Amino acid sequence: MIESNRLTAEQYEQNFSDIHPPFENKEAALVEANRCLFCYDAPCIKQCPTSINIPKFIKQITTDNIKGSAHTIFDSNIFGGGCSKVCPVEKLCEGSCVYNLLHEAPIPIAKLQRYSTEKAIRDKWKLFERKPSNGLKVAVVGAGPAGLSCAHVLSRHGVDVTVFEKESKGGGLMTYGIAAYKVTPSFCQDEVDFILSLGGIEIKYDHELGKDISIEELQKNYDAVYLGIGVGLANKLNIPGEELQGVEDAIGFIYDIRTKGYPNISVGDRVAVIGMGMTAIDAATQAKRLGAKEVTMVYRRTEAQKNCTQHELDIALLDGCKMQWLAAPREVIGENGRVTALVCDIMTLGATDHSGKPAPEPTGQTITLEVDMVIKATGQNPFTDLINKNGIENNRGKVAVKDNAVTNIDGVFAGGDCVNGGKEVVDAVQAGKDGAAAILNFLQPKNIASIHQLNSYSTDERIATQQPML
Ligand code: SF4
Repeated sequence: MIESNRLTAEQYEQNFSDIHPPFENKEAALVEANRCLFCYDAPCIKQCPTSINIPKFIKQITTDNIKGSAHTIFDSNIFGGGCSKVCPVEKLCEGSCVYNLLHEAPIPIAKLQRYSTEKAIRDKWKLFERKPSNGLKVAVVGAGPAGLSCAHVLSRHGVDVTVFEKESKGGGLMTYGIAAYKVTPSFCQDEVDFILSLGGIEIKYDHELGKDISIEELQKNYDAVYLGIGVGLANKLNIPGEELQGVEDAIGFIYDIRTKGYPNISVGDRVAVIGMGMTAIDAATQAKRLGAKEVTMVYRRTEAQKNCTQHELDIALLDGCKMQWLAAPREVIGENGRVTALVCDIMTLGATDHSGKPAPEPTGQTITLEVDMVIKATGQNPFTDLINKNGIENNRGKVAVKDNAVTNIDGVFAGGDCVNGGKEVVDAVQAGKDGAAAILNFLQPKNIASIHQLNSYSTDERIATQQPML
């Protein structure tokens, strides 16, 4: 039976509280920070998509320079707080730490990063100053990691930024698309507030591209436009029974959990989650934490080819989720319009396909899972229609860019998931930085002109027009 309000308030609170334990005290952080070898040519930096100077921020922790440490992190990654909670560090910085070669535990980089950034966000430290406004205006579409990272860099350079966001809160995927026990809604709000505290960035919420605003309009009113619109709707399974009540997509399921309150989210007794990426794990673990009695994850390949990390899989296993490897959904069976079972083809692995993984092939045998809810987590479609309607060149549905963020339309730039099809939050943050660099380069001639204009004001005019001396 699919029903909401399965648990007590205390159980919801416990199941969705922050999964990452911080250091118990300063001494515990110092012990770990002092283990760092401060490697020359540090491999951990190379594995960070935003190139955070990890040995530097760890060294700053050892001297109790937490403000300096937070500045080092945020200077490379303004979402450094959230990324310390959601980054798959086992395949990024921590996975490359030299201690792994010594068969010893790597430096807990994420935990140390959290140690500094949480304090900065909680205590509202003012770590950055923006240059005086240079009169240039940029529109950013999307207040997710790519959009806000781009906006922050631009604002630091004196550009006035207006962000158009279709939701009522900023943070994008961080706020709406990740398991609440990894990054809590209140932390997401604090992180967005921290980013905006720089000044020079205005967010217009409930403004959707293609509905409330158009690229043409933005081009007319701004000196440049940056698109960080993310990816679109969940992929369909295209199997019989997909329209039955009880079949949901993981993106919508996670979005509801983050926006409607845990007791209001309905979940089945027995749930099948199709897919084995991070979103599939987040849907499966949260279904269990909402009170589902049994959750089975269905994947058409074997554990060796899974898209999620081992750490993620371990969370799902610890939550009691079952794994059905080598099974591909064939049909959803229903009764009175509601899901009663999921029939899967049993697969075997064949030759390597275009993805670089062995291709799953049906064996001719099937397995039937008795379930009352099916959650689809097999990827997302790009916003192809929206992109086409606005005359933007696309690359198999995603926004096509050349030379780092430059689209086919003069003055329109793009980055993050709408370009790469959906990667990690930290990749989107770097894409936003790259976009800002491309925009600053594009605006340079106008920037110089505006600086000349500002400096041509007499002192009285400058005071009268509130223009700063540059
Ligand atoms: Fe420190 Fe490990 Fe990075 Fe070396 S690789 S600097 S030990 S965190």
